[in-house]
Amino acid sequence: MASRCWRWWGRSAWPWTPPLSVGSIPSFRHQFSTQETTPQICVVGSGPAGFYTAQHLLKQHPQAHVDIYEKQPVPFGLVRFGVAPDHPEVKTAHCGRCAFWGNVEVGRDVTVPELREAYHAVVLSYGAEDHRALEIPGEELPGVCSARAFVGWYNGLPENQELKPDLSCDTAVILGQGNVALDVARILLTPPEHLEKTDITKAALDVLRQSRVKTVWLVGRRGPLQVAFTIKELREMIQLPGTRPILDPVDFLGLQDRLKEVPRPRKRLTELLLRTAMEKPGPEEAARRASASRAWGLRFFRSPQQVLPSPDGQGAAGVRLAVTRLEGVGEATRAVPTGAMEDLPCGLVLSSIGYKSRPIDPSVPFDSKLGVIPNVEGRVTDVPGLYCSGWVKRGPTGVIATTMTDSFLTGQMLLQDLKAGLLPSGPRPGSAAIQALLSSRGVQPVSFSDWEKLDAEEVARGQGTGRPREKLVDPQEMLHLLGH
Ligand code: FAD
Repeated sequence: MASRCWRWWGRSAWPWTPPLSVGSIPSFRHQFSTQETTPQICVVGSGPAGFYTAQHLLKQHPQAHVDIYEKQPVPFGLVRFGVAPDHPEVKTAHCGRCAFWGNVEVGRDVTVPELREAYHAVVLSYGAEDHRALEIPGEELPGVCSARAFVGWYNGLPENQELKPDLSCDTAVILGQGNVALDVARILLTPPEHLEKTDITKAALDVLRQSRVKTVWLVGRRGPLQVAFTIKELREMIQLPGTRPILDPVDFLGLQDRLKEVPRPRKRLTELLLRTAMEKPGPEEAARRASASRAWGLRFFRSPQQVLPSPDGQGAAGVRLAVTRLEGVGEATRAVPTGAMEDLPCGLVLSSIGYKSRPIDPSVPFDSKLGVIPNVEGRVTDVPGLYCSGWVKRGPTGVIATTMTDSFLTGQMLLQDLKAGLLPSGPRPGSAAIQALLSSRGVQPVSFSDWEKLDAEEVARGQGTGRPREKLVDPQEMLHLLGH
């Protein structure tokens, strides 16, 4: 289910339910007494996991109060900073007034033990912000960066604004074959005039207008049956104006016969790949491809071994790839090297091989191998009153719909514990105590109404240019605009 949902949910069943104001939630038929102490709950992180967890708690408990702490001055996590700017349909989320405290980094401005002291329960929903390193020589060269940083750059994530990728080369290689890899390839190859109508940052648009990148390769260790992207993204890529796909028919030999073994979403995806690789296009499509000035291709059965330096050592000149073959069946299929090597020339290398979370506090258990907080259905192992949801709970896979389901489950576990008397009894001060702490530390939180002012400013700056908004990318400027 999850694997086919990337855009499908975004388009037609986008489950991001807007206003999260407690007052707007209908009354409840449930088991909590209206006489009991107000449960003070705090959520760390305002991405989909944070908001969906909060939504579940507020909906299912008549008195619960939820504060969401967010390190950025603006809410929504990857919905604002990850989802590609030419996918605006998945960015229409707005949240009503709720207890949002932006510009507060948990672990720096306030600690998890301080939050636990002030609240009956704390939910960690702070996502997976680190990318997985390639761990190959040359990875540190200029011209090599993570696809995640590249996405953050064009989407206005403050910490990625210094990236300024050099797009003066004609070939880029993306290591990975998931949706983020396809998003990045699409942004690199989309004619800039099409991006002008999106909320991509102006700085990124200016760089993309000067881009000389003509070819983008997406490299995967395994084969067409193992790609991690979904059909909508692929279809969009195949139809991208001014570009043509490059697929080697040899990679697809014998695949038709195996289609009956695979689940339906994978079957449909593979059929589209097969048609694109093996069938002669109709005259119109053939003409479109012939006139395309840009191209993208999938390189299968290749595992990166080294980023090759340019002669002056100041950039990337290519990627050395080990040729692989598959061993095993089904989910257990792995790529093993055949011993053959191949060099793929390029000037830009983007790694898109996954993410991991960071530990947030020494008092919070952390599985550094898996990059997640150890938990059972959202209850953090051995720490009563501490919960987790989203990518920090289950790892960085799945779409927003998957995140919604697991966040609701975490909310459910928390409320079960509350009902069973497993959370601290007696009143807790909640945000009053934390605001006092933050103020003593010189931290000025951004409220949801502050965010609405920033939102209005962004929209106003976009007006007249035909763009939905011009994103603010500098936190200092945001705070200045708010008079902080
Ligand atoms: P996040 O969205 O990352 O939210 C975590 C939040 O926690 C962030 O706001 C972060 O600033 C905050 N935070 C981090 N550390 C702290 C701290 N110490 N203190 C306070 N706050 C903190 N899914 C789709 O369905 N459609 C798409 O088109 C799509 N595009 C994607 C594109 C990219 C590049 C990526 C990486 C993912 C995409 N996804 C998409 C997947 C989707 O974004 C995730 O499923 C979802 O965002 C995970 O939610 P989360 O709340 O766990 O994490």
